[in-house]
Amino acid sequence: MVVSAGRLVGDKRSLRCAQRHPNPPPTTSFPGQAVPAEEPHPARFATDTNHVIAKRIVAEAERTGRGIALENLRGIRGRVRLRKPQRATLHSWAFDQLGRFIAYKAKRAGVLVVQVDPAYTSQACSACGHVDRNNRMDQATFQCRSCGFAGHADWNAARNIALRGVAGWAAVNQPNADRRRVA
Ligand SMILES: [Zn+2]
Repeated sequence: MVVSAGRLVGDKRSLRCAQRHPNPPPTTSFPGQAVPAEEPHPARFATDTNHVIAKRIVAEAERTGRGIALENLRGIRGRVRLRKPQRATLHSWAFDQLGRFIAYKAKRAGVLVVQVDPAYTSQACSACGHVDRNNRMDQATFQCRSCGFAGHADWNAARNIALRGVAGWAAVNQPNADRRRVA
């Protein structure tokens, strides 16, 4: 599952401002003139957004009877694209927090969570397994140099994470099975 954190942040901005300022301070501007909105506190913002994202992911997993595979959160941090002001203020704790929220809400809902090896999820082909830095044409585009499989880079990476989650879960449930990681 691919999550667009940036979009959710944008959607909540006006709501948050309205909640914090039920009675807007008086201004000297003329009616109809744009008044600069106060920036919400980025940490509270990230926490609220993480709750929304985690809730949606767990609800979708519960609804469809699936588990959730999570990769090392620094890997997610490297792929998520944020606009400049957020890039400067959001740190890895926000992504660690998202993982904790997902794990907590999933446990409460009885949804299975599997941690997977984050290595090369963005460079590996989710169709044939071929790993090549050049598979990643640019930030958004994946095209396999070996089999030609192509798609959005985040979607391909998410497929890799899902495949590893399934393999990891199978290994846990079959103690005698080969536990080697599937790339
Ligand atoms: Zn391939």
